[in-house]
Amino acid sequence: PRSTPVFSGPFSRSAFQRLLSSLAILEQREGKLNHGSLSAITAARSIGGSIHGFVAGSNVKPVAEEAAKVEGVEKIIAVDNVAYEKGLPENFAPLVVENIKKGGYTHIIAGHTAFGKNLMPRIAALLDSQQISDITAIESENTFVRPIYAGNAIATVESSDSVKIITIRGTAFPAAEAQGGSAAVEDGVDPKSEASAEWISEDLAKSDRPDLATAGKVVSGGRGLKSKEDFDNVMQPFADSIGAAIGASRAAVDSGYADNSLQVGQTGKVVAPQLYMAVGISGAIQHLAGMKDSKVIAAINKDPDAPIFQVADVGLVGDLFEKVPELTEKLKSS
Ligand code: FAD
Repeated sequence: PRSTPVFSGPFSRSAFQRLLSSLAILEQREGKLNHGSLSAITAARSIGGSIHGFVAGSNVKPVAEEAAKVEGVEKIIAVDNVAYEKGLPENFAPLVVENIKKGGYTHIIAGHTAFGKNLMPRIAALLDSQQISDITAIESENTFVRPIYAGNAIATVESSDSVKIITIRGTAFPAAEAQGGSAAVEDGVDPKSEASAEWISEDLAKSDRPDLATAGKVVSGGRGLKSKEDFDNVMQPFADSIGAAIGASRAAVDSGYADNSLQVGQTGKVVAPQLYMAVGISGAIQHLAGMKDSKVIAAINKDPDAPIFQVADVGLVGDLFEKVPELTEKLKSS
């Protein structure tokens, strides 16, 4: 059983809160601030205390200036060094640790993104702290809520570590307002640690459609699409008719119908758009783990007993090869 934090006597809650200080790890790519990473600032705000942001990379000044305008941030710690540009955790982790030590922070917060998942366990190990991963709510400065077993159970965990290393689920914390703040920008310490890994190249999937992780509307296709050609022919015009991002089930990805980066679910992306449309997807628990927090869920499936209908707000039983093109035409002309 966990104990309720007690704040009494001279060490009152308000006095304690003044000692809280969070460092939000901000992500940048090629000189552009990743606005999704501003969710870390929102989480820091609900913890209370002072909030600093951290950013590193080559020519990082403009990104730091942009981050300084984010509402609720007191200071941006910036480290300008090309060695950190690609965010390799091998040298980024010791860099952040030096800055944590200098700033004396109580909470270090990053998104539960590929970058955050790569970086934060190393920071936790270097600080001998137990990481608290993928949280969806903050109950107090030491008590956090996180889904476990693919979202089938919710754990409330309490940490007694002096520095709490936290990754947050982006869909649970909206990004902080990019305007309204006027933080100072300060140079961070740079230990210039050698990286034991070398950046060689990256292959990024390019798309003119909205980004899957942050899109307001997502249409996802499953094994019911039958082939890559059918997936493209049915899902692309459908997505474009409503300006949606395209997602896919793991079965569709494993069958080669869709790119790996489009996978939604426990081992794919977690999304919570205003509208999620599942097409030819049965609704396996591992898929639901990535989309069940969507505001409105619509499903098209020829099997009236498909489990997806249990979570869907709107369902259409029928052959997707008839229904989706019909719907696409109607949406295009509306
Ligand atoms: P199926 O379950 O085969 O469903 C296809 C659906 O299409 C059926 O409901 C069928 O009725 C319907 N259909 C077929 N033809 C038509 C038609 N013409 N018109 C209308 N409907 C039609 N899955 C994920 O999606 N994401 C994950 O991240 C993920 N992670 C996993 C992690 C682990 C550890 C494991 C064990 C599994 C994971 N899975 C994940 C796999 C998951 O268990 C399911 O196998 C997968 O989601 C099934 O995909 P599907 O719904 O597309 O395929």
